[in-house]
Amino acid sequence: MAGRAGVSWCGVVRWLEPGGGIGNASEPEESIMRSTSNGAKSAGCLLVGLLVIAAGAYAAAEVTKYSVHDMSRPRPVVVKPPERVGEAPADAIVLFGGKESDLLQWQKGNDPEDPAAWMVVDDYMVVPKKAGSIQTKESFGSCQLHVEWRTPEGVPETVTSQSRSNSGVFLMGTYEVQILDSYGNETYADGQAGAMYGQHPPMVNVCRPAGQWQSYDIAFMRPLFDDDGNCVRKARITLFHNGVCIHNNLEIEGTTFHKRKARYRAHGEGPIQLQDHGNPMRFRNIWIRRLPEEPYLIK
Ligand code: MG
Repeated sequence: MAGRAGVSWCGVVRWLEPGGGIGNASEPEESIMRSTSNGAKSAGCLLVGLLVIAAGAYAAAEVTKYSVHDMSRPRPVVVKPPERVGEAPADAIVLFGGKESDLLQWQKGNDPEDPAAWMVVDDYMVVPKKAGSIQTKESFGSCQLHVEWRTPEGVPETVTSQSRSNSGVFLMGTYEVQILDSYGNETYADGQAGAMYGQHPPMVNVCRPAGQWQSYDIAFMRPLFDDDGNCVRKARITLFHNGVCIHNNLEIEGTTFHKRKARYRAHGEGPIQLQDHGNPMRFRNIWIRRLPEEPYLIK
């Protein structure tokens, strides 16, 4: 399914349509950035600032228009919870539940006709040699994402740092949450398991030994951009690794790069990507829920 059109944010800030250069995060497509004169940019920034303030005021009005315990206030939608924590709730999109046919929701690279060539074994999928990274055919923005992953056993002790069972989860095809065997494996802090790659280390290291299943539970707020490609609200992430909070409403600094400072480029919704870094990683039980923009606006 193709990416959805962006939803208007209180009808005042518009962002780009899906497909705007989502893919290889290490090669951002600068062409989608729109250049303007400095004067126009200043006026645009002022306008956007006013619009952001107006949007915040609108959100505040939405919250305060009901009195305390107001019985006319709409109730939240009822969602059947899973039997056990970690399983998909009723309103989740299951991206990989253990079936061979689940791979049809994924593709290799940006071509929807290029099938994901990862191998399904029992209830998990494993990365064969040179199979390439895979990404969902569907695009997402703000979301809750559950991913379980496992690093291979038997890796020689001489294989260390970033070479030791490397992978990653890319949100919107752009922002990498690092996957690595960080159990007794020294590497740079902003590149260990759970790091926003090249930006922020996790608060603690809760990595399990190789050969054990681990989980990421992510709550992600997408960034917003104005018509000139300026980021008017940075992305944010909350991340639980093996049930332990390692990022709490963390601001993401922009596209994650290797040995380059992060920065934003404008884009629409994007896929969930899983990285092939040349290691036989395993993944299972992957599901996602779209999260609404309101009433969780961050001013
Ligand atoms: Mg990685």
